[in-house]
Amino acid sequence: MSLVTLRPSTDAPAAPLLDVVGAHTLVPLVTGGATRSVYLDHAASAPALTSVADVVAELLPWYGSVHRGAGYTSTVCNEALDLARRRVGRFAGAREGDAVVFTRNTTDSLNLLAAALPAGTAVFTLDLEHHANLLPWRALDVTHLATPATAAGVPAAFDAALRAHGPGPALVAVTAASNVTGETLPIADIVDVAHRHGARVVVDSAQIAPHRGVDLAAWGADYVAFSGHKLYAPYGAGALVGRSDWLDAAAPHLAGGGAVRRVTLDDVEWSTGPARHEGGTPNLIGAVALAAACRALTEIGWDAVAAHDAALTEHLLARLADIDGVEVLSVFGPQSDRVGIVALTFDDAPAAVIAAALSAEQGIATREGAFCAHPLLRRLRGVAPDAPVPGALRVSVGVSTTADDIDRFVDALDALLADGPRWRYETTGAQVAPTPDPRPRPEALRRIA
Ligand code: PMP
Repeated sequence: MSLVTLRPSTDAPAAPLLDVVGAHTLVPLVTGGATRSVYLDHAASAPALTSVADVVAELLPWYGSVHRGAGYTSTVCNEALDLARRRVGRFAGAREGDAVVFTRNTTDSLNLLAAALPAGTAVFTLDLEHHANLLPWRALDVTHLATPATAAGVPAAFDAALRAHGPGPALVAVTAASNVTGETLPIADIVDVAHRHGARVVVDSAQIAPHRGVDLAAWGADYVAFSGHKLYAPYGAGALVGRSDWLDAAAPHLAGGGAVRRVTLDDVEWSTGPARHEGGTPNLIGAVALAAACRALTEIGWDAVAAHDAALTEHLLARLADIDGVEVLSVFGPQSDRVGIVALTFDDAPAAVIAAALSAEQGIATREGAFCAHPLLRRLRGVAPDAPVPGALRVSVGVSTTADDIDRFVDALDALLADGPRWRYETTGAQVAPTPDPRPRPEALRRIA
């Protein structure tokens, strides 16, 4: 795939849009010394916003049991959970009557929904989805559509599949942005088509949420699922937000305390609303952190976040275009809309060694592999369904990324491709790692050992 000609790189932001914890962390290098960490793995997990960590630290002295605790701290925490739910609902564009269920992450949210579908629901997905939006539907009547050559062709593909489906409940499960290529999908148009056929739509918003936000109401979608750890709130909470009726009629996601109104030894009356699926003690800190991140991103504004993202992505792509032997993976072609996620392959170097060397020798964090999207990687790399999955290198930016981070990455990549690594790398388990690896570990690890 050839690279697009892009506007001059001088537009790329010199300063972070929002501050994160660890932005100034020095990471050790195998070659000795340490350097400022460059973190370009946001699509996997993003660092905590400083404001999120501050809210958590401020609340911890007031931490107490949630639900029936009679202490003052319990009153505070109950209110905090309610406020967090309302904030996350507003962030997601929830409508009157939509449920905001706190989960562990996007995977948990999609599994919850999969178990809540009315019997006989037919599910339609694309072959570009993350495993989290492929595997939960496997036990059901699921159809995997081949992703069309253009994003604009996707609604028509769903239209044809839904027309062939006929009556009965149906769900379209689609991502808003690919976690491999960063390319976006026309969600509002997909929703229009689905609703015309009486089908509902769940949007896997794991990747769109940190770059462009999530808007159930604007999309007209029925459900969204996203993860706090990708939204600068890595405290273990995610959310499923959307229509209550199927959720209220479904078996509880986690049967236990908090999910019930009344229990006898042989009967139970389950709660309705989010409580039905949030059995056990909730992850209050996770929910509060997620809400704090939602608020911080909303306040800085999606125009600012998207502009920061776009300028960095253009800068990255423009600089990569100058390096021979680098291919940018794409489903929909070089002109397609994308968020700040770019996956690369190299003519003459294994992506796994490049990723390991970037980290070990330069302190630059990227990711190598098939990104939990094996069918898509096989398709993009043109290998058979039963062949081993070929890996790629993924670079993903966030609100704290600067042009300097991108430049450090591209300069280091250029040098690695030209001169090769300066250290030895071996495959240990599933990963390529520096051998030996003399880098010391931070004190925190000793405190939990
Ligand atoms: N969907 C997409 C598009 C993703 O990128 C990811 C995470 N890589 C997930 C779902 C799953 O998210 P989590 O691991 O937080 O459950």
